[in-house]
Amino acid sequence: MSGILVVAEVFDGELQPISHELLGAARKLSDGGAGPVSAFVAGEAYAQDLIHHGADTVYVSNAQGLEIGLADPYLAPVNAAIEQSGADIVLLGQTNIGRDLGPMLAFHHKTAVSMETVDLQLQDGRLRATRSCYGGNARAELTWKEKLQVATVKGKSFDALEPDTSRSGEVKNVDAAGETKIEVLSTEKAEASGVRLEDAPVVVSGGRGLGDPSAFTTLEELAGLLNGATGASRAACDLGWYPPSQQVGLTGKVVSPNLYLAVAISGASQHMAGMAGSKNIVSINKDPDSNMVKVSKYAIIDDYKKVIPALIEEIKKVK
Ligand SMILES: Cc1cc2nc3c(=O)[nH]c(=O)nc-3n(C[C@H](O)[C@H](O)[C@H](O)COP(=O)(O)OP(=O)(O)OC[C@H]3O[C@@H](n4cnc5c(N)ncnc54)[C@H](O)[C@@H]3O)c2cc1C
Repeated sequence: MSGILVVAEVFDGELQPISHELLGAARKLSDGGAGPVSAFVAGEAYAQDLIHHGADTVYVSNAQGLEIGLADPYLAPVNAAIEQSGADIVLLGQTNIGRDLGPMLAFHHKTAVSMETVDLQLQDGRLRATRSCYGGNARAELTWKEKLQVATVKGKSFDALEPDTSRSGEVKNVDAAGETKIEVLSTEKAEASGVRLEDAPVVVSGGRGLGDPSAFTTLEELAGLLNGATGASRAACDLGWYPPSQQVGLTGKVVSPNLYLAVAISGASQHMAGMAGSKNIVSINKDPDSNMVKVSKYAIIDDYKKVIPALIEEIKKVK
């Protein structure tokens, strides 16, 4: 096989964690025989970091417009990097850029794209991608008929490698100019404090069973103690108990933390679609037969009003 190209992303001057996770996935594929690992990035300043995290070659573009965070300007430079590297696998993050750029690249190369991919394997020298379907209730396995295989990968699906500063690699320039039909008139940053829901290693989410919007303050305290973020079910958001920006699920954010603590959430398929990829699910629910309890590694069957304060107290003691 002729190699893998990872499309790295930079936001606010920092490489996004998904870039390192994609390199982790790419190295595994490379070890299985998929060929060398290349990365595409906007700006030379990030090249060594990508090499330390597993890239053999980094294709750097300084094309105008890449900094606006939209997919359009990436198309021509990433295509040039695909051509220069000869890669037959392209991995992108399931991000604002990746979710548009993946289908654009696939259309351009008359191939298919696996969106929201959670696993990647090599089988008979070809890529096999796994993604969830039917609102998170089933998993689909996909292969490609065409040579170029494009996949957008959900955050936290793969572990980043520990940086190895002794690794060396090549840095090459990509000359293709970015093009965009979009003019950005202004940008506005949403107010946010603490860890971003999508990046949090721990997510504490509350549902309609909380029965009271003020309970979210206690969940925030618990999340803070665990260095995590607070989420909510759609039912809780629709009731105006928590901001819709923190909704987890099919029509909300997709999270895959190490620990997802579901408090008074029943586990409807639309909620599961946003958190089924969590590494460990723990629930607090009065109903032992609720779906969330069934999918949990550990469940506490009791009133959350008793459990959460006790949990906070214990964590404070340990800390
Ligand atoms: C098109 C579409 C898209 C949707 N998208 C989403 C989405 O993105 N995200 C999402 O979350 N939902 C989504 N939904 C809604 C989804 O179907 C469910 O209605 C919703 O997830 C239920 O939220 P809940 O679990 O908080 O509430 P409920 O289903 O009412 O569950 C409450 C839970 O709390 C428990 N409970 C009650 N009291 C206590 C207590 N004192 N202590 C402990 N446990 C208690 C109950 O046993 C129950 O399990 C969508 C629906 C549709 C149709």
